[in-house]
Amino acid sequence: MTSDRSAPAPTVAVQRKLRAARTHCATRGAQFTAQRAEVLELLLLRGGQAKAYDLQDDMQARHGRIAPTTVYRALEFLQAHHLVHKVDAANTFVVCDHAEHDHPALLLICPRCGAVEERHDTGPAEPFLAHLRGQGYAPQAIEVKALCAGCRAG
Ligand SMILES: [Zn+2]
Ligand SMILES: [Zn+2]
Repeated sequence: MTSDRSAPAPTVAVQRKLRAARTHCATRGAQFTAQRAEVLELLLLRGGQAKAYDLQDDMQARHGRIAPTTVYRALEFLQAHHLVHKVDAANTFVVCDHAEHDHPALLLICPRCGAVEERHDTGPAEPFLAHLRGQGYAPQAIEVKALCAGCRAG
């Protein structure tokens, strides 16, 4: 072992995430099939954020021609089990960092560079969410368009 202080290689982080997802699904009695795992893997390999057709391209690069529904069905499953969020404002999918608890996602989308950040500090949004629940809604996500620090400075 070398004493390398840099972050673990992407593949190591990806494998760790996939293991966690497998355990997460097993706990919930959900079938984490090879195809579903692969779509999550490809999303992770793209830095945790991608458009569906990019994932289809990646999948086809490995297996040849596949139907778009293959990717969409896998993404639907991953969303249903809180492993992935759909970001409507950016038309992308992002990996969820805290799938272990059900939560409405709080997503910041930079309209300039397209970066998406999922916030864990949903506390400030709670009064609003509680208000909506009181009116009979079941909030699923809050998408906020906000220039990221990099774009704001640039
Ligand atoms: Zn999440
Ligand atoms: Zn930005």
